[in-house]
Amino acid sequence: MRRIYLDHASAMPVDPRVLEFAERYLKDNYFGNPSSLYSVGLEAKRAIEDARKKVAELINAEKETCIVFTSGATESNNLAIKGTALRNIGKGKKVAASAIEHMSVLNPMKELQKRGFELTIIPVDSTGVVDTEKLNAILTNDTTVTSIMYANNEIGTIEPIKEISEIVHEKGLYLHVDATAAAGRISVDVQNDGIDLLTLSSNDIYGPQGAGALYIKPGVRLQSILPGGGQERGLRSGTENVFAIAGMGEAAGIAKAEMAQECKRLKGIRDDLIAAMLTIDESYLTGHPTQRLPHHASFRFGRIEGESILLNMDMTYNIQVSTGSACTSRTLEPSHVLLAIGLKHEEAHGSMVLTLGRSNAFEEIPIITKAVKETVQRLRELSPL
Ligand code: PMP
Repeated sequence: MRRIYLDHASAMPVDPRVLEFAERYLKDNYFGNPSSLYSVGLEAKRAIEDARKKVAELINAEKETCIVFTSGATESNNLAIKGTALRNIGKGKKVAASAIEHMSVLNPMKELQKRGFELTIIPVDSTGVVDTEKLNAILTNDTTVTSIMYANNEIGTIEPIKEISEIVHEKGLYLHVDATAAAGRISVDVQNDGIDLLTLSSNDIYGPQGAGALYIKPGVRLQSILPGGGQERGLRSGTENVFAIAGMGEAAGIAKAEMAQECKRLKGIRDDLIAAMLTIDESYLTGHPTQRLPHHASFRFGRIEGESILLNMDMTYNIQVSTGSACTSRTLEPSHVLLAIGLKHEEAHGSMVLTLGRSNAFEEIPIITKAVKETVQRLRELSPL
């Protein structure tokens, strides 16, 4: 049975073009330490600078030097939040985040809370959109960093970042945006959107795991959270992961060139899948019906558990779906995102998330639909509910 992979929000296969480009940095004449002054090191350094340029172009950063490479989105989020809060402690000891941020945003904020910072959680509506009126009312001028994601990985909702940035900037504050789920699927323009700090992940744009980036607007000051040899402008010490960073650069270039066309294709498949799923009894779309990522479809089904759907789809049909965020789904706790949009615990347990990617095709729609319908029926027949 051919595999149908529908969990691109959790992990993506590395694009073969990216792999072919980047693997030389593990061997040949390119394996050197980028800080070394001889030729093998200089080649590695050049690879990093080329990647910096391509990543900067993907998000329309003012300059290449606005990009700091990290090990991934979690590290970028930690650096953005802790780095900004600690460096700007003189301005105040408050931080704020939306209720549906990824745990790699919420947990660094909770850590700051333990160190005496005040954390404010900004509510979202039933579709996951940040309540901008409440945001405006809540933010005070001693809030050092406010974190609102570009789009949510579990429910696909795209936030009104430009409007949010105007509110944050009117108060003279810094806005951090986690664009891990959005970059490469919708256009992200840090200058037009008015973003001070932006998180990106290599694997979420078909690059190798182990690299990420933080965009830092010129003039925004951060404290390093990983002191050492002073790489990456002293903000992120440690010998760079040249292979993954070079791959991320190549992936960013491909994303920029192909995103518009590819996302149109995926949106077509996605829309048909949503229409088919909603014909199932007691099925509901989660997240925003229109303001959502083009490759993203998320649902909940009454009277069944998401984990059972996931396992049955995998074992019976070789189709991989998700119940939410892979990073927290192992806890079996209901997703904080689904609770934040107002679902009850039992409702939040019946979730299924489909995130499409380059391997998916229109021909798969009837296969996926049949598999989900049979799975839901089978599980409901077994369900004590
Ligand atoms: N932010 C968002 C929105 C995510 O979806 C993820 C997971 N892909 C992360 C942050 C963390 O990414 P990583 O585990 O690769 O650091």
